Amino acid sequence: MIIVMKLDLTATSLEVAEVVRIAERYPGVTTQVRQIQGTSRAVTEVYLLGSTAGVPSELFEQFPGVERVIRIRERYRAIGKHDGQASAIGFEYNGLTFSQDTFHLFAGLCAVDNREHTEVMFKALQGMGLKTARAGAYKPRTSPYDFQGHGAECLPYVFELAGRYGIKVVAMEVTHESHLDEIAQALEASGQATGVMLQIGTRNAQNFELLKIVGQQTEFPVLVKRGMGITLEESLHACEYVASGGNTRIIFCLRGVKTHLGDPHRNLVDFSHVPVVRRLTRLPVCVDPSHSVGKKVRSSDGLYDIHHVTAQGIVAGANMVLVDFHPNPDRALCDGPQALMLNELQHFVEDANLVRATYLKRVELAASAASTAAPPRVG
Ligand code: PEP
Ligand code: MN
Repeated sequence: MIIVMKLDLTATSLEVAEVVRIAERYPGVTTQVRQIQGTSRAVTEVYLLGSTAGVPSELFEQFPGVERVIRIRERYRAIGKHDGQASAIGFEYNGLTFSQDTFHLFAGLCAVDNREHTEVMFKALQGMGLKTARAGAYKPRTSPYDFQGHGAECLPYVFELAGRYGIKVVAMEVTHESHLDEIAQALEASGQATGVMLQIGTRNAQNFELLKIVGQQTEFPVLVKRGMGITLEESLHACEYVASGGNTRIIFCLRGVKTHLGDPHRNLVDFSHVPVVRRLTRLPVCVDPSHSVGKKVRSSDGLYDIHHVTAQGIVAGANMVLVDFHPNPDRALCDGPQALMLNELQHFVEDANLVRATYLKRVELAASAASTAAPPRVG
């Protein structure tokens, strides 16, 4: 059960404490108070967990501070879209807003290899007016003999350069809890030159202890990637782990699933799930065309498959794109074959913006079609 408090109330309000006190008088019921940033407003919600079947909603509905009481039947308690809740979980981070209504492009290095490449990458992003980037420091690799990322060693120059070129948020995968401390320390040493969105990679979508750790901190937002060999529902439960720890600043990322049925692409592209995730959850949705397609090949129309699947994700409502670029893909230490070149950045950005504008027009068209459509016939 979720008790949504009135707008002016915060987690420390007396009315919230009263709801918690009464709820916890029921045997087997525990509570969690969450402050949810919706797209247009912040809401305080009290979650009643455990044996809530015998708790009457009417009791709480009469409280002066309570806006509404929602009984949850769906699986996704914290991230799900339940009737009457703020329509989406949006959040602000380092001056940028992320929600089901916004759009951001995170382009950059799959793996940071050196300072020079990092600098030209960030400079190119700044040249296109972008304030968000990807930069991998900790790389989970299939073979232990492959490049594992420079780890903490590269963080000082990554953050310094991000700050210098106006990058506000860097998406960066973490594979161990110690990485959170290393990132926080390096950010502090850089004078908080930029912000970091912690990325949970596909291989860690069921690393429940890591999910709990990124969920128990609220300093950094979290980008959770779909598990490559599990169902969508199982992957969304990864987000539920993060949210139930207390951190609802989450973005869910589709990145394809592993099956030979996706050949000749690296993975079977799953961007048709963008509207599904938007419907089931309140989370912004990201697509990763690079790790889905895995190679830079052109179709007969002159566009890369990476362009095409990016467009498929955006036209279906994706709120974020995570894409690999590299100044010299032949020399990249990780995933060079799927990296686009810096002189291809402008085309990529313009193509993505074109498709985003089309998506927004599709939404308008759908709204006007719904308002003029005859009401459904009953009986
Ligand atoms: C990545 O984005 O760097 C990455 C390793 O992706 P995935 O976890 O989706 O394979
Ligand atoms: Mn990669």
